[in-house]
Amino acid sequence: MTKLIAGNWKMNGSLAANEALLGALAAGLSARPACDVAICAPAPYLAQLQALKAGAPALAVIDIGAQDVSAQASGAYTGEVSAAMLRDFGCRYAIVGHSERRQYHGETDALVADKAKAALAHGITPIVCVGETLAEREAGRTEEVVKRQLAAVIHVNGHCISEIVVAYEPVWAIGTGKTASPDEAQSVHAVLRAQLKAASDNPARVKILYGGSMNAANAATLLGQPDIDGGLIGGAALKAEDFLKIIAAAQ
Ligand code: PEP
Repeated sequence: MTKLIAGNWKMNGSLAANEALLGALAAGLSARPACDVAICAPAPYLAQLQALKAGAPALAVIDIGAQDVSAQASGAYTGEVSAAMLRDFGCRYAIVGHSERRQYHGETDALVADKAKAALAHGITPIVCVGETLAEREAGRTEEVVKRQLAAVIHVNGHCISEIVVAYEPVWAIGTGKTASPDEAQSVHAVLRAQLKAASDNPARVKILYGGSMNAANAATLLGQPDIDGGLIGGAALKAEDFLKIIAAAQ
């Protein structure tokens, strides 16, 4: 299966910095990377990414993604961005349920499931994030937590579950420099794989990405695990050299 390397810029960037970063990526990307590549940018910069892509053939291989999407279609939801709006700016992906949204914005499993549904309804692939906190891992609850988070999305989107991407992101590994060991990550991915298989009568394999301090040095080993189909990359996606190395590791 073609792996997917998706950058999550989080709330970073500026018009000038984005242009420089994409310029460096364009210079370093091969015309046909052996993996799919996406960048999930802050909403105000989606138009810039779309324009930069249109102007540089080397960037054609990068798909655009958003970091969140509203569960609502339109109307009185101040500050929200709908899936149809993301579509207008060429988004192929939208992250839903990132742990920072669950933690700082109180997003529940049910809301995350509805966001995935809104994305799917507009032809956008939701990258559904699941992951346990350190306390949950230490209490031996990792499997229960990630299965509960994914089950909510399956419950609402069962008929098109093979259209989603899942990202396993242990919360304790995000932005901390601590990475799950390849064995730790693989064992959770295998649990998620079995859950997805049981939920789908479509044999298509859902991509399950790993995220949490993936970097140029550890990417190859993590991506070499049988059930790790790519990476969701935060910090290392902001440096062209590192992001390109991770893309190269996914071949
Ligand atoms: C993320 O935000 O999805 C992420 C994985 O961040 P980092 O790579 O910085 O840990």
